[in-house]
Amino acid sequence: MPEPSTPTLAQAAASRLRITEIFHSLQGEADTVGWPTVFVRLTGCPLRCHYCDTEYAFHGGEWMDLDAILAGVEQYGAQYVTVTGGEPLAQKACRPLLTQLCDAGYRVSLETSGALDIDRIDPRVVKVVDLKTPGSGEVGRNRYCVLEHMSPADQLKFVLCDRADYEWARDKLTEYDIPAICQVLFSPAWGQLEPRELADWILADRLPVRFQVQLHKLLWGDVPGR
Ligand code: SF4
Repeated sequence: MPEPSTPTLAQAAASRLRITEIFHSLQGEADTVGWPTVFVRLTGCPLRCHYCDTEYAFHGGEWMDLDAILAGVEQYGAQYVTVTGGEPLAQKACRPLLTQLCDAGYRVSLETSGALDIDRIDPRVVKVVDLKTPGSGEVGRNRYCVLEHMSPADQLKFVLCDRADYEWARDKLTEYDIPAICQVLFSPAWGQLEPRELADWILADRLPVRFQVQLHKLLWGDVPGR
């Protein structure tokens, strides 16, 4: 009888992921805001945004195979699942995880930074791309080619730190005709830009964008696992 073959490192990396947390909360942003949602937070991110609220996900985490992650999600009985990070696409097995979650019948979204390619993602997944503004400190990492892989169900999010960020984002809307491609979300960076100020700017300029504040932070504050 032949010996069972040992998986190669590449095979192992394609079937398991480093996970910081799996938790149940209300979706705090994007177009499913308010829905009970299970969040799968993958460990690691190659970016270092000034306002990052998930630095605890940069390191550590626990290796889990896809079956264990699916079981972790299933225990909450929710309809919506969001795969987030860190930067989830930095891990090779993120794409197979997204497909398995879709196959299991969940409504799946992916939160990603706009700094990595978003091709070859299961078409059933709603992509929420967080394009980086100058105020983030990571604007040079943006890959504007991600827009080629976005559709009206997807969302491009701008987290804005100040008026300069707002004007930069407003210019990008025109430069790439973004509202014709996907939904656009404008959100104030928590604790940096007064939400009402941003709302007034959007209305004054008649922008075709959706204003958002992070619901989970209004409810529970800036704490992990919420
Ligand atoms: S991309 Fe997201 S997780 Fe990574 S540093 Fe920026 S805000 Fe934090």
